Amino acid sequence: MKEIIIHNLHTVHKRIALACEQSGRNSADIRLLLATKTVPAAYIRMAIEAGENLIGENKVQEFRDKHDALADLSVERHFIGHLQHNKVKDVLKYVSCVQSLDRLSIAGELDRRLQQEGRSLDVFIQVNTSYEDSKFGLQPAEVAGFIRQLKSLDTLQIKGLMTIGLLDVDKEKMRPSLTLLRQTREQLIATGIENSDQFKLSMGMSQDLEMAIAEGADIIRVGTAVFGNRVVGKEIWNESEAEK
Ligand SMILES: *Cc1c(COP(=O)(O)O)cnc(C)c1O
Repeated sequence: MKEIIIHNLHTVHKRIALACEQSGRNSADIRLLLATKTVPAAYIRMAIEAGENLIGENKVQEFRDKHDALADLSVERHFIGHLQHNKVKDVLKYVSCVQSLDRLSIAGELDRRLQQEGRSLDVFIQVNTSYEDSKFGLQPAEVAGFIRQLKSLDTLQIKGLMTIGLLDVDKEKMRPSLTLLRQTREQLIATGIENSDQFKLSMGMSQDLEMAIAEGADIIRVGTAVFGNRVVGKEIWNESEAEK
């Protein structure tokens, strides 16, 4: 498995480099987050030992289960799943960033906990760019108002926007979601709500990372292309799965 993971990582980094070349971007500006849901700790370790430094889980339980096995490794951890109220306290044990902030009630609860702990947390705001009910996230038009409300919560450092986007076998159908996230950022910058350099986009997965880079992604989140197909049949960000 180690050879396969190293080979796959190599392939993904080549894809990133090529996409950057084609869109005039610097590959040093793109961060690769490994989406490690359902992936055993031993395989995650192989990827980290091969040089990766950022992982993301969709369930707090998976961070907990894999924690001891990875405790000696230095790696940044982000939460990328649907955060439940009863997991707010636990998620803070594991992550430095929640990429999937999508409602004020959770933001308030995070802030309360963080105040108690005397620390801050990076957050991305999850945007629903595919208009599918099964996906979480704010509508693009709601984002500016949400950011204004978040600014009163001192412990949350708003780092950018995150989206999953439309997944389709026809790649060109996936592009509008990515374009929409880019435009949402542009609008926030144009209206002075955010400043350009510090406000990032997390978008692009195994299937669409090239398009995401062309549309301005700063963080791409890749699972399958590194670790192979997951056993679960249904995508895990749907509510029923995320709860299990
Ligand atoms: C699983 C997952 C990914 C990675 O998807 P792949 O198609 O396996 O690369 C990215 N983002 C989120 C939120 C995910 O849940």
